Amino acid sequence: MSFPERVKEDALVACGRRCCICHEFCGIKMELHHMALHSEGGKDTAENCIPLCFDCHSEQSSYDKKHPKGTKYTPQELTRQRDSWYTKVAAGLADPVQTDDHRELDREVFRSIRRVFPHDGPLKIIRASRLQSSDDRNAIVAVYNSLKAQMSDPGFEFIDRELEEARANFADAVIELYQINWTETMYCTFLVDEISTPDNYKDGTSARFAGGYEGFIEGWSRVERNRDKAGKALRPLAEKVLTSYDYLIKAGRRRTGIDGR
Ligand SMILES: [Zn+2]
Repeated sequence: MSFPERVKEDALVACGRRCCICHEFCGIKMELHHMALHSEGGKDTAENCIPLCFDCHSEQSSYDKKHPKGTKYTPQELTRQRDSWYTKVAAGLADPVQTDDHRELDREVFRSIRRVFPHDGPLKIIRASRLQSSDDRNAIVAVYNSLKAQMSDPGFEFIDRELEEARANFADAVIELYQINWTETMYCTFLVDEISTPDNYKDGTSARFAGGYEGFIEGWSRVERNRDKAGKALRPLAEKVLTSYDYLIKAGRRRTGIDGR
């Protein structure tokens, strides 16, 4: 009971991920509204679909016919709003006008990103490693800490919508990787501790070390398996960080006209 993927995709591209009513840029905070509801015979077609921001969408569904306040949007009006917005986006008229001063501000943010996240720094380690060692973990933590430091500055955001979305995607990916990094690799570390200091455990886990050398080998192979598991769990999230980083750098060069290094 929702729009097919292709209909969604076409609608999101057509509106430039900006709300068809208030024209606010939404990024992922976007909803696809049925102008005629299913209960009124509305279909899952492009014709019946209008992309809206959360606020405008909730206004659509909260309008109370029994206690009307304000003026309701009719499906006909929504269609016109949408079509006129799609036309503007297609004509390249959707972007807010940027002055030279705005561009200079964006260049400053881009330079800062280039400085703080060099491609041959910790990101290179994340790109090249199997994400199993404590050095790899340190690289992830380093990227996260740099991001946190930068984000504490409220001025650290692009005015250009495409760049700001790219920056936000990179930031989200770094945070996600950092968060799972802890749970996965802490588990790995825990097992290493278990082997090196078995006497500290009172719950019987140390018993296997009574098995002497064989117990030790068994313990280590568990550590290796878990390192492998941790590395595999981290890889897709690491790829998200790297892909969003690469996109951010490319878009930054294209939109600001500088290399930034
Ligand atoms: Zn809106």
